[in-house]
Amino acid sequence: MDVTSAKTVAGNPAVFDSVLIANRGEIALRIQRACRELGLKTVMVHSTADSNADYLKSADLSVCIGPASPGQSYINKSAILLAAKLTGAGAIHPGYGFLSENAGFAQAVEDMGLVFIGPPAEAIRTMGDKIAAKRAMLAAGVPCVPGPDTALPDDTAEIARIAEEIGYPVIVKAAGGGGGRGMRVVHDAASLADAVLVTREEARRAFGTPELYVEKFLQHPRHVEIQVLSDGFGNAVSVGLRDCSLQRRHQKVVEEAPAIAIPDAIARSVSERCADACRQIGYRGVGTFEFLYENGEFYFIEMNTRLQVEHPVTEMTSGIDLVRQQLLVALGHRLEFDQADITCSGHSFECRINAEDPYTFLPSPGLITAMALPGGPGVRVDTHVSAGYRVSPHYDSLIAKLIVHGADRPQALQRMRRALSEFSIAGVSTNLPLHREIFEDPAFIAGGPDIHHLETWFSARSKQ
Ligand code: ADP
Repeated sequence: MDVTSAKTVAGNPAVFDSVLIANRGEIALRIQRACRELGLKTVMVHSTADSNADYLKSADLSVCIGPASPGQSYINKSAILLAAKLTGAGAIHPGYGFLSENAGFAQAVEDMGLVFIGPPAEAIRTMGDKIAAKRAMLAAGVPCVPGPDTALPDDTAEIARIAEEIGYPVIVKAAGGGGGRGMRVVHDAASLADAVLVTREEARRAFGTPELYVEKFLQHPRHVEIQVLSDGFGNAVSVGLRDCSLQRRHQKVVEEAPAIAIPDAIARSVSERCADACRQIGYRGVGTFEFLYENGEFYFIEMNTRLQVEHPVTEMTSGIDLVRQQLLVALGHRLEFDQADITCSGHSFECRINAEDPYTFLPSPGLITAMALPGGPGVRVDTHVSAGYRVSPHYDSLIAKLIVHGADRPQALQRMRRALSEFSIAGVSTNLPLHREIFEDPAFIAGGPDIHHLETWFSARSKQ
């Protein structure tokens, strides 16, 4: 389908034939591929450190926007906006990370008369404030972690009363927090005041707002998230659940879809609440509702208003190309399917392959001297690197995503083991050996480990 000639919805000015991709690495290539399949031209912006990236060659245009440091290139709003203006791009896709959840950037793009490929700036702003997000979710009937949907007051006696009412342990969190920072677990009343003081100061410095809130600390939850897709015309669907419990320092390492051992009725009900919430807040595009899941209950923690690293596991099970849908919605199209049309089948895993020491996690930048990719049935590799590529020390160490799909979880596990055995990268250290071990771990194979499992597994392993 060539969307540039497709009819857009009356009154929607969202017509564009070229997309500026304000990102780098595997996701920049992923977005470029979706654009090309839709007949959209692509403009890639890049830093001097990425000048030799292969994916620049397959773009219609590429523009260097600054030096390696992200502050001077990939998160330099004015440089990106200027590049869009000079190249005549009609829309900007922010990918993930960088400016993808920056409401000010989304607004600036729209103010220039361009299309921001993501939700309206207002939705990004609301969801970026975790207290406002929690309030919006409670209003939409989405279950949240017990605790008030208001900022903590200054009065210490009042704070103590709130924590007492929730019941220890509690977690003090920064309203503007992100990336696993600005949180502190408090086990008893004696340590509450200090925890609030330190977290408030950290929040003021790191996130520019000292606002905090407090909620129940769940001890053994799984991280389960729901992918949504919404067209801004009142049509919103859930595209299934993912389990991303295998984390280290709040960073996801392996993801899977669907999330297993969750009763269908509960999954369906919370998915419907999420789709409802999208309608209520006028959401547009793809988004993810993140939950903690414990003892048969879902507890909302935050919404990511962008495409996520782990989106391919949902694509593999649902057959829906989420980036294509994002582009179509941005072009003003209505969703072509409703909830009843979405059926997920089989099972999918994703391993994040990083250029790092597999056990100390220290980054391992440098030249990739050789690389052999896995292939065969049910195997997908999303990567921008190949032999001869130099991994830059300036960015995230993610160099590839290995995704498999099988008829069921046991087959997908077996397929991932096989694919991991075919995958080799020389010249830099990678976490491939860690992934190979994870896929032999009996607790992971059995399914449903909690968010602490990987860290616990590590400390047991290092004592051996
Ligand atoms: P961020 O935006 O920094 O990623 P989140 O609110 O998504 O912060 O929380 C990140 C992680 O912190 C969660 O995946 C979970 O591991 C832990 N966490 C957050 N809130 C709670 C809670 N109420 N109870 C237990 N763990 C929590």
